[in-house]
Amino acid sequence: MFVGSPQSGSNTSLRMSEREFHREHGRIGTMICPLCRGKAVRHLPLPHTTIWRCRASHCGLEFASPQVSDDELRRIYTATYYPSIDNSRPVKYGATPDSVLRQVLLQLEASLGSLKGLRLLDYGCGRGPLSRIALELGLVPVGMEPDPVARSISKASLGMPVYASLEELRSQDLPAQFDLVILWNVIEHLRQPWSELQEIRRFLRPGGRLLVSTMNTRCLRARIESQRWESYSNPTHLYYFDSGSLERVLRCGGFHTPQEWKPKIRYPHHGAVRRCLYELSTMFGVSDGLYYLCHLASSTHL
Ligand SMILES: [Zn+2]
Repeated sequence: MFVGSPQSGSNTSLRMSEREFHREHGRIGTMICPLCRGKAVRHLPLPHTTIWRCRASHCGLEFASPQVSDDELRRIYTATYYPSIDNSRPVKYGATPDSVLRQVLLQLEASLGSLKGLRLLDYGCGRGPLSRIALELGLVPVGMEPDPVARSISKASLGMPVYASLEELRSQDLPAQFDLVILWNVIEHLRQPWSELQEIRRFLRPGGRLLVSTMNTRCLRARIESQRWESYSNPTHLYYFDSGSLERVLRCGGFHTPQEWKPKIRYPHHGAVRRCLYELSTMFGVSDGLYYLCHLASSTHL
């Protein structure tokens, strides 16, 4: 999982300008959308911030403003995601079950062809659950994870290279391009996802693929639970997506033809009724999860 951004200098200036926006616009109930510069209105109050929703019909981005500071984020990640290096303490926000990650990679293989031997960048790899399944299936993963505890765990348990930032990865004597980059439930944690996607794009080979997964603010649980919905209440989430806003962010990140992908996932804790409800909600676009595949054209080379 991702902590802050590799560009701490620009983070500081981003947060400063955000505080100014907050002071100027917060009192009168409007904010400027950081993606399209359109008008955003107050959507939901949270204990640690306010969620705003862009009113522009082509955008609709939901975002937290002000964003939690880097120091506070580090403290929250330690308390809720990575409390101990030996996994001995309870975790509030656990990783996606292995069986789900295996289904996703197998269905990706069914759509794209064999994944064996492909170089994978697991961006925001956390403790490395996705990379562990990728290794089982014959991929060659490299991790990127700023949290030092998560990085130690994934390095030690998988024996793969795990870098703290794209800058550190860039400085290595390695072929810098990947066949596949996956952001698994990571994009909502980034300070400015469209900027980081532009950086990530430089690490994809022409013809390579990007897979992004995140929450869906149109899901039934979000509508029913409102600010109690875990994807809203999690203080490490800085953005909240539906298909429209996610597509816009991907396009602004340089991925011009994002395609929604609907893997058929069976969650191990779902009984027959929940499984049926989940399949119906996926069919109608109101399930709690969005998956997008982007293909970097073969002629594109940065
Ligand atoms: Zn907007």
